[in-house]
Amino acid sequence: MTESEGKAVADTAFHVRFWGVRGSVPTPGANTVRYGGNTSCVEVLCGGRRIIIDGGTGLRVLGQAMMKEGAVEADILLSHTHLDHIEGFPFFVPAFGAGNQFRIWAGHLLPETTLEKTLGRLMSAPLFPVPLEAFGQQVRYYDFRAGDRLILSDAIRVKTAMLDHPNDAVGYRIEFGGRSICYISDTCHRAGQTNHNIVNLIRGTELVIYDSMFNEVEFADRPHWGHSTWEEAIRLAQLAGVKRLALFHHDPIRSDDDLDVLAATAAELRPGTLVAKEGQTLDICAIAA
Ligand SMILES: [Zn+2]
Ligand SMILES: [Zn+2]
Repeated sequence: MTESEGKAVADTAFHVRFWGVRGSVPTPGANTVRYGGNTSCVEVLCGGRRIIIDGGTGLRVLGQAMMKEGAVEADILLSHTHLDHIEGFPFFVPAFGAGNQFRIWAGHLLPETTLEKTLGRLMSAPLFPVPLEAFGQQVRYYDFRAGDRLILSDAIRVKTAMLDHPNDAVGYRIEFGGRSICYISDTCHRAGQTNHNIVNLIRGTELVIYDSMFNEVEFADRPHWGHSTWEEAIRLAQLAGVKRLALFHHDPIRSDDDLDVLAATAAELRPGTLVAKEGQTLDICAIAA
């Protein structure tokens, strides 16, 4: 392979890596070792560009890995700002390092407030001793409105849609090189109704990462908690012609053994369905092939 062929291969690489797959609260302990206990954080590599979705405690671990790379840059897309999706920021070491560059995006806060103000509340006394200003010029904050399209580069386009969640949340579709992945967390569904916002966003995509906090029995008791089910994930994936489904945002009560059972049951209903696991990497080009 020549050097230019090698570069061409690298430039079309499209990978997803899970750094935190848990919903609501971190779950350290002997029963969560295999699937992981960190809260939501997903890394998406598009050619040479890095996108991070959500900043739960998984972001801290990703930050440690990034510190080995030298100067780093990323767009960070936030589904919303509930604690389990932002609590990694105070411990995201690269954000404190001059020379790094981060653009953080949120689409659920306008007009009442902004992303910078909201993260500023998280990182302020007496909740946390280091203020948001410590991130300095290397971190920029962008507010948009759900439904807007974001252009991260000539090659990377992001579609967004409002989800169904208390205080709102935004779903993303990241398009790169003729392929796409979607991140749909956190959201609930309405029994017997189809969320067309979601179906339109995920139609024909290679991968959907979906809020599968509950099963149908649990959901019947908690329809207004703002979370969905793995059964609904499969229904939507079928309806929208999704190639691969990743069940995500696991309930803190789920043990590794519970998630093994879920993985087997879901894969039987829809072959290829996987239960997202910390450290797992997916090659989107391989899914598309
Ligand atoms: Zn959550
Ligand atoms: Zn939430």
